[in-house]
Amino acid sequence: MPINLAYLKSFLGSRGFESKIIDLNILYVNKIYAGDGDIKNKGKILNKIFNVLKNEISSFEPSVVAFSLLEPTFFNGIYLIKKIRSEFGEDIKIVVGGPHVSYLQKKVLDFRSIDVAITGEGELPLLELMQRIESGKNISSQSYYTRKGDKIVGGNNPRYIKDLDSIPYPDYSDYEFKKYPFPFICSIFSRGCIKKCIFCGVPNIYSGYRHRSANNIFYEIKRNVDEYGFRVLAVTDSLLNANPILIKKTCKKIINENLDINWMAETHPSLSDNLSKIMYTAGCRLLYIAPETGSQRIADIMGKDVDINVAEKSIVNAHNNGINLSSWYIAGLPNETSKDINKTFNFIEKTKDYVKEIWISPFGLSINTPVYKNPEKFGVSKISEVDYRLYCTYETKDPLCSFQNQMKLLLDLYKKYNLEAYNSKMMRLVRDISDNESVSLEEKYLLSESFQFPYKLYGVDFNEDYSYIKLFENCFKEVLTN
Ligand code: SF4
Repeated sequence: MPINLAYLKSFLGSRGFESKIIDLNILYVNKIYAGDGDIKNKGKILNKIFNVLKNEISSFEPSVVAFSLLEPTFFNGIYLIKKIRSEFGEDIKIVVGGPHVSYLQKKVLDFRSIDVAITGEGELPLLELMQRIESGKNISSQSYYTRKGDKIVGGNNPRYIKDLDSIPYPDYSDYEFKKYPFPFICSIFSRGCIKKCIFCGVPNIYSGYRHRSANNIFYEIKRNVDEYGFRVLAVTDSLLNANPILIKKTCKKIINENLDINWMAETHPSLSDNLSKIMYTAGCRLLYIAPETGSQRIADIMGKDVDINVAEKSIVNAHNNGINLSSWYIAGLPNETSKDINKTFNFIEKTKDYVKEIWISPFGLSINTPVYKNPEKFGVSKISEVDYRLYCTYETKDPLCSFQNQMKLLLDLYKKYNLEAYNSKMMRLVRDISDNESVSLEEKYLLSESFQFPYKLYGVDFNEDYSYIKLFENCFKEVLTN
């Protein structure tokens, strides 16, 4: 369930503004998610969705319709926005926000039907917009981008809430819980990240690192258990253990208050035996851990502050304390050599018995990330953007490190290490794309970005698509069967 929208609803509600959330993804996710479903019928499906929106807008009569846009569904959103503008005219202001808008910044206002683009965190800018509309003021502000004639103005001072404890708990009253495929609810302990990975755009989304207090977190979790009956929690922080003291305090509170929950999160690969033990006792049953590489040279370039030896110990610590792990890697950084990628595969081989699943992603060069802003420094000689997309194509200074060669190397290593996964439906598709000469390198690149390479999967038949539901069911079976 989109927690970001539930936060906006509760925040606006606490300031006297009523809102209604419509989760289009859950209504139509199997059909509209880009690259999935019946593409031929996409127009028909979008029109159906528009009819749902039209009825909602007609009965709710909002002054603002706001979309949270993600990269894969960006153009679906734009299609719906244009239809809303043509149906309802300019009286209703159309606002966009969400992760993809934070990457695109003011470029999103190329689409004339959009009135306001909010980058970063939405609470304060959206509130300011609502107050301006209510009091009949001009909507221009430095908190967000808007338009003055043909010029895009504002956006120089995206506002954010420093004290996260001051934000009311997310309001889920518009969600139909039973429509969601797995019975878990999200929680955000902190916003932002303390690391500076060269491939990451999280700083576009959050303004610096802040965290809530352990008490504030605990009572939200308790509310989710007591009022909604959710005993599985997905902690969606960028990095769970950015502040290990906070995690310890929160876990101790859960343990002392005997709150019977299970939870999962994403963690930096620096987990002590002690912290793993406390986390397990507090119900942690699944961690996504991302060493990203097995090469210390590449780890240092990546800027994630990963010590390969500590990463290996962290995996063992978490496993030995009973926490299930899914581990993640990136291959093909522009200055990565075959020696480095081999080291990653050696690291994976060494740790594979401690983890339930392993994924490798090809390196993707995203807009507005450190590599994008400083390509020369990272071995990139030329970047070509594709309009409104997150990922760019690029050329490398060293031709051996070109994307094409990196992909080939990765696929060769796949063949060498894991023929079964290579033969799965998804891997066959990747191989077909990479072998097909009629597909341009640019297309191959963008298509490959949709894939992650499974190295080890949890309990699946390789002839079927992977379903992470099986992993969840296993990890959380204690609370789910009680
Ligand atoms: S640790 Fe994760 S969220 Fe933080 S900068 Fe690196 S990739 Fe981004």
